Amino acid sequence: MTHRHIVWRPDEPQVARCLIGGHRAPAPGCACGIHAEPSLEVLREQGLCMAPAEPLVLGQVALWGAVVKDDHGLRAELGYPSALSLVTADARPEPGDLVALARYCGEAGTATPAEALGDIAASILAFQAMSR
Ligand SMILES: [Zn+2]
Repeated sequence: MTHRHIVWRPDEPQVARCLIGGHRAPAPGCACGIHAEPSLEVLREQGLCMAPAEPLVLGQVALWGAVVKDDHGLRAELGYPSALSLVTADARPEPGDLVALARYCGEAGTATPAEALGDIAASILAFQAMSR
């Protein structure tokens, strides 16, 4: 499930739908579609890696069908994860977590918050976790 509560099922491409305009996604001038950013650095700068998801998964996605590039990054009609990493404080996942991720792309990796988010974002995330 993504931070927007969208469930991605193994072996099934995600098909974007516009919930606002009811048109085929992605549409110019709208924000619908499967969003992706080619640069991890841009994601870090925008704070998108800091969504308070538990667990946090960082991944690459294959996009196809109609694909639009605009101020929102890339937005696509269809997508499927091509690589996934589970972000854990010590890069030691709980048993079964990597198996669950591997159902999507064959093999899943691990990353520390600093590796995935950058040092500053990882520090902020750690502070937020301590504040809960
Ligand atoms: Zn739309």
